[in-house]
Amino acid sequence: MSNSANEFLQSVIATNPAEKEFHQAVHEVLESLWPVIESNPRYQTGKILERIVEPERVIMFRVPWVDDQGGIQVNRGFRIEMNSALGPYKGGLRFHPSVNLGILKFLAFEQVFKNSLTTLPMGGGKGGSDFDPKNKSDLEVMRFCQSFMSELFRHIGPNTDVPAGDIGVGGRELGFLFGTYKKITNEFTGVLTGKGRNWGGSLIRPEATGYGLVYFTQEMLGTRSDSLSGKRVLISGSGNVAQYAAEKVLEFGGKILTLSDSQGTIVDEDGIDRDKLDWVMDLKNNRRGRIKEYVDQYPGATFLEGSRPWSVKCDVALPCATENEVHGEDAKTLIDNGCFCLAEGANMPSDPDAINRYLKAGILYGPGKAANAGGVAVSGLEMTQNSMRLSWTRAEVDERLQMIMHEIHGTCVKYGKQGDFINYIDGANVAGFIKVADAMLDQGVV
Ligand code: NDP
Repeated sequence: MSNSANEFLQSVIATNPAEKEFHQAVHEVLESLWPVIESNPRYQTGKILERIVEPERVIMFRVPWVDDQGGIQVNRGFRIEMNSALGPYKGGLRFHPSVNLGILKFLAFEQVFKNSLTTLPMGGGKGGSDFDPKNKSDLEVMRFCQSFMSELFRHIGPNTDVPAGDIGVGGRELGFLFGTYKKITNEFTGVLTGKGRNWGGSLIRPEATGYGLVYFTQEMLGTRSDSLSGKRVLISGSGNVAQYAAEKVLEFGGKILTLSDSQGTIVDEDGIDRDKLDWVMDLKNNRRGRIKEYVDQYPGATFLEGSRPWSVKCDVALPCATENEVHGEDAKTLIDNGCFCLAEGANMPSDPDAINRYLKAGILYGPGKAANAGGVAVSGLEMTQNSMRLSWTRAEVDERLQMIMHEIHGTCVKYGKQGDFINYIDGANVAGFIKVADAMLDQGVV
């Protein structure tokens, strides 16, 4: 057992060099967990920390495919099977050129705690490839997905490991992946979640992460007898999570001022209303366009090239794009401009400096592993429906999602209450950890 959290972190860094996002995720969790470890000798003798940072299995593989010009392309595929103490590995697949081992290990590590918080029986995993679906034809994406699954299929299964989507993996990619799995194994089974509605997918799954984020935000605001109604809201990203977060913010009466993508941010002081959001959804999902096209359609808006939304005055901020998209200086600007609530749709969007500033300022801060758990929760519900071979109605799934987000919020409050302040990050880390750690102790040294 290390003598301090820092000594333990240094050992993780030494064993996993060049995985800086993984180091960051472990560091953040350690800050919350160290007091729990120190006061629980059974976690120390069981070497729970040492075991929980080590993936149960890492699979890396070659993904060769043929482009439309007949040229051979080679990408790298990954699946991190991080922890199965609570159930089959569960977590998304990301297709993005930035994907590497360290990024997927950070995501898989976070996923373990997140899945534990949902109360559903799911372990944690993550996977993907450095393949970039942008500017590829549908046929190229299909050939890539077929090659990717022709290796992945032997490592996954409805009771083993059940992937879903993430950045760059939406309905189109999941369809191609599922089709290939079914052909190779000759089994129609719930091996992926986020499937199409007419072939085993759960209603509300595409909406679940964004909706869940906003339900969680409402719960947080509720602790201060407040709500989203009339609030100025910044959203980053314009993909799956951002779109459905925006939809739900509108339902709760918030005013959305921004959306973004990797090229920049659009700011609409008149508010992005339902009609404008429908236009964005069509642009991003059907026409696969760029968010800057918004200002051609709505000339009252402005495009901030290469910028993120955080300089715009707001009450509530919802980062929904990617990791480390809010830095310390952005956090300072947000807080100075009156932002008093920030909830993360993306995974680890705030860097450590930003998190310290939120905590110091005492604003409501909902970390991703709690606030964005709605997506994996409905994935868990999709697995249940697949096993039972039935499908619940939209209202039924939505009601369960709201209940799960309410319970996750309650758990964070229980473990994170520090006087009048709720430290959601401590609450989420400690509650998520205890369940996994106890299951690991029960299951012996495996
Ligand atoms: P999408 O691929 O649908 O959308 C991603 C959005 O983020 C796009 O607008 C994209 O812009 C932007 N983005 C991606 N990478 C970068 C970058 N490096 N810099 C700036 N912008 C970037 O992904 P999702 O909406 O599914 O995922 C968004 C976040 O939510 C991720 O952190 C993911 O891990 C997390 N998440 C997703 C869940 C889900 O159910 N889908 C569940 C829980 C968390 P561009 O098009 O220019 O790349």
